Amino acid sequence: NDKIRIGIVGYGNLGKGARLAIVQNPDMELIAIFTRRNVDSIHVEDKQVKVLNIHMAEEYVDLIDVMLLCGGSAVDLPIQGPYFASMYNTVDSYDNHGNISEYFRDMDKASKLKGKTSTICIGWDPGLFSMNRILFESILPKGESYTFWGPGLSQGHSDAIRRVVGVKDGVQYTIPIKDALEAIRRGKTPQLTTGEKHIRKCYVVEEEGADKDKILKEIKSMPNYFLDYDTEVIFISEKELKENHSQMLHGGFVIRCGSTGREYDNNHLMEFSLKLDNNPEFTSSILLAYARATYKLNKEGHVGAKTVFDIPLKYLSNRTSVDLCKSLL
Ligand code: NAP
Repeated sequence: NDKIRIGIVGYGNLGKGARLAIVQNPDMELIAIFTRRNVDSIHVEDKQVKVLNIHMAEEYVDLIDVMLLCGGSAVDLPIQGPYFASMYNTVDSYDNHGNISEYFRDMDKASKLKGKTSTICIGWDPGLFSMNRILFESILPKGESYTFWGPGLSQGHSDAIRRVVGVKDGVQYTIPIKDALEAIRRGKTPQLTTGEKHIRKCYVVEEEGADKDKILKEIKSMPNYFLDYDTEVIFISEKELKENHSQMLHGGFVIRCGSTGREYDNNHLMEFSLKLDNNPEFTSSILLAYARATYKLNKEGHVGAKTVFDIPLKYLSNRTSVDLCKSLL
C-alpha cells in the first residue's frame, strides 16, 4: 500500500469537503479526522471513517503523511498551524491576507524543526488567484491587474450581519459591478477601490418585532464591511432564506490588461475566472492536490513553509513527467 496517508484536522465545511475529495483521488487514503469537539457529536456519513480527539494526533505521526489543516483562519490556524507543522507535513488554507508574512515565518520555523514541509495559504484566494496574478504580471510588466470576487456568498460578511441586534439570520453576497468588469475587458485601466468594483447584497431575517430601519442603518454604516460599498438590504422570511440561500456559491475573476510594442499600442487581456457551486468543496480539492505536492517535496528534502509561488505544477499531478509532457504540454 503506497497511498498517501491523509489526516484532517477540524471538521467544518472544509473538513467535510476534504473527506469527499479524498475519495476522488485514488492515490490517497483518509486515516482519521481530528476534532476539538466531543467525537460522538460528529456525524460522518461513512461509518468506516475514524474520528478522534485532536489530542490523539501526537500518536499518529508515523501513520499519516500529510495533515490537512481545515480550521478557521482567524483564530484556529495561528495556533493549530505551528503545532501541527512541528509534527507533520501540512497543508492549510490560511487566508488572512494582512498577516501572511508572520504566519509564513511561524510555519517555516515550526516545520524546519522536524524536517517537515508546510504548504500554506492554499485555496483559490489566496491560492489559484495568487498564482494567476504572479503569472500575468510577470508576462505583461506594463499593465494593470484586477481581482473581482463573486458573485458569491461571503462567510465573513454574513457573520457580520448576523451579529447586528435584531437580526435572526442572514447572508451576504459579494457581486462584481458589471460595468467595471466590462470596461476593463475593453482594455480600460481605471484605478478602482474594492468598493468601486463590488456591490454587497444582504438577505436578512429579522427577529419578531425588530426595528427594520435600525437594522438597515446599522448594516449600511458598518465600517470596513459595508460603509464604503453600495449595499442593498432585503428582508426575507426564514423559510425563504433556507430554501434559496443555503448554497455556498462563490467565484471571481483575475484580469490583467497589458500592452507591448514600441509605442505600447498592442493591448492584451489575460483572464482567469472561477464559478463555484460549493466554495469549501472546491477549496478542499485544491488542498488535496497540494497535499500530493507537499508529500513529494518532503520526500525530496524540501522542508519549511511553501506557498503556491514555490511549488512547480507537475508536483500537483499524480502522473509522470513523461505522461504530462505527452498529453498536457
Ligand atoms: P468552518 O466550517 O467554520 O470550520 C472551522 C472550524 O470550526 C472547523 O475546523 C471545526 O473545528 C469548527 N467547527 C465547524 N463546525 C462547527 C460546529 N458546528 N460547532 C463548533 N465548531 C465547529 O470554516 P470553513 O468553512 O471550513 O473554513 C475554514 C477556513 O478556510 C476559513 O476560515 C477560511 O479562512 C478558509 N478558506 C480559504 C479559502 C481560500 O481560497 N484560500 C477558501 C475557503 C475557505 P473542530 O472540528 O476542531 O471543532
